[in-house]
This record gives sequence, structure tokens and C-alpha cells, in this order.
Amino acid sequence: MTSPVIDMHVHSNNSDGRESVAEVFAAAAAAGVTTLALTDHDTTAGWAEARELARQHRIGFVPGIEVTTRARVVDADGEVRRFGVHMLAYLPNPNNVALAEALRVSVESREVRLREITERIAADYHLSWSDVLGQLTDGATPGRPAVADALIANGHFEQRGEVFDKLFFKGSPYYVPNTGVPETIDAIRLIRAAGGVPVIAHPLSRGKRPESPSDFPRQHFLDMIESGLAGFEAHHRDVEPDVAQWLVALAKEFDLVITGSSDYHGADGKPNLLGEHTTTPEMLKRILDQGQGSVPELVG
Ligand code: AMP
Ligand code: FE
Ligand code: FE
Ligand code: ZN
Repeated sequence: MTSPVIDMHVHSNNSDGRESVAEVFAAAAAAGVTTLALTDHDTTAGWAEARELARQHRIGFVPGIEVTTRARVVDADGEVRRFGVHMLAYLPNPNNVALAEALRVSVESREVRLREITERIAADYHLSWSDVLGQLTDGATPGRPAVADALIANGHFEQRGEVFDKLFFKGSPYYVPNTGVPETIDAIRLIRAAGGVPVIAHPLSRGKRPESPSDFPRQHFLDMIESGLAGFEAHHRDVEPDVAQWLVALAKEFDLVITGSSDYHGADGKPNLLGEHTTTPEMLKRILDQGQGSVPELVG
């Protein structure tokens, strides 16, 4: 019996990963991953193929989605803050009408946003909308990585990370917010209503976190928990140790799930390596027990 390597957050070219589902599974097999959740942004397009490949490779498969959401938090001083939150949804029913409609609207608004970003960048760089489309697999969820890939293809940059650092920093003239995505609390309810298990992806990740743990937004987390949040992806390269510790304590307090994952985007999509952070079998079992909307492909 090999020891379990459970990676609960992986992307393919059905969203912004640079590898096909087949390439992802081959890489997962080579990396010794024993269970993998495919969690492309706002789509379930890769699930059917992943199920087949999971059987072939004898790797466990958990169907998932990384749902783009926008939080609306009222601070103690009455100020409203809005920021993006990625919500992993494990085992939701892909045919649930409300969830499917929310994802459709979200993907549509991503495209509007990406066109606007492309237009702004095209004023300063050699770039067209068809260059961007050329970087997207048919039916894939559009995102800024496709713009980055087009700029790389046109010779402006070498790496996605470089484009994010130089063009997509906070306050950049090329920054356009995504307005068509569900509010975080609503997304949690939608996912639960579709039989899914909502787990926040890389909470308070690098660059988004308050500096001091005394400023961590506890009330915001309590509101999400009350709405049905199942847990936190505390073990992820973008979640710093003091944040992870805070999340683990919060999970203990409310008996929630803690996961760990790579957030793999292909060999040269991001530096994240398959299996670099993992989830325990106990935690996976708790997710499988709660997930009612679709079925996993389990090994053995
Ligand atoms: P979008 O979906 O348009 O909001 O773009 C966000 C996506 O860009 C995330 O899901 C990441 O996969 C990717 N991303 C963000 N920062 C970086 C980076 N520094 N290097 C490579 N990819 C990144
Ligand atoms: Fe991504
Ligand atoms: Fe994410
Ligand atoms: Zn991700």
C-alpha cells in the first residue's frame, strides 16, 4: 500500500492550467499523487475526462470547481470592503440550475472583463483579442493568464508571474474588477444547495492578508461559517504560517475541515508542484461524507 498523497486543488486547460486533463493525470501519476481533485475556475468541463483518466491511472478523483466570488464585508467602522474570494466546491451537482446559471453568468462576465483588460494593454503592447483567444482551449474559462500567455507568445514577457508582477499589480491601469461574480455568502449557499462542499481556497493569501493576526477578519469568517462553509485550505504555498495557524484553530473551534493542496497550473503555469501540500485521509473522508451532488471516483 502506497502512502496517500491527496491533492485537492488542481487546474487544467479547461480554465487557466497549461496542461490538458490527460497531461495533468500523467503528471499526477509521475508525482505519486493518489487522489486528485480537479478544480478548474468556474467550470465542470474537465470532469468526464478526469473520471476516465482516474480509472486508467488508478488515481482517486474528486470533482470540484474553484468558484470565483466577491466578498462584501462591513468593517467595524461601517466601511464596506469588497475583495475576491476563491471558493472551492467539492462534489456539487453540475446540473443544479441555480449553480449552473451563476457559473454561466460569471464566465460571461469574465470574458467582458478580459476584453476590457486586453483593450487597455493593447494601447501599450502588441496584443489583440484573437491573440488571447488563441491561448484558450475551446470552452475554457477565460482569465488573465490567457492574456499573460498571449503577451509571452508575442515576445513581451517570459513568464506568467512576470506579467502579473508588472501589469496586474494592485492599482494598475490594466486592473479591471470582476463584477458579475456571486457574493461569497451567496456562493456558499448555492454550493450547499447543489449538494457541494464549500472550502475557501488559499484564505487570506499573500498580498491579501492583514499584516497583524489581531486584524484577521474573524466576523467575516463567522458569517461564512454560519452560511454553510465547510472548511479552509490552510496548507497552500500562498497561505503564510501565522494565517494557517489561525485557520487551524478556527477549524478546531467550529469542527470544520482543513485541506492542503498544490493549486497546480501545469509545469510552467505557476511554480506550484503537484502534491507539494496535501490533505489527510480523515479530512478527505469528511468532505466525501458531506458531498451529495456528484460522485467521486475512488480507488480500491
Ligand atoms: P483571473 O482568473 O483573471 O482573476 O486571474 C487569476 C488567475 O491568475 C489565478 O487563478 C492564478 O491562476 C493566476 N495567477 C495569479 N497570479 C499569478 C502569478 N504571479 N503567476 C502566475 N499565475 C498567476
Ligand atoms: Fe488559476
Ligand atoms: Fe485561486
Ligand atoms: Zn486555483
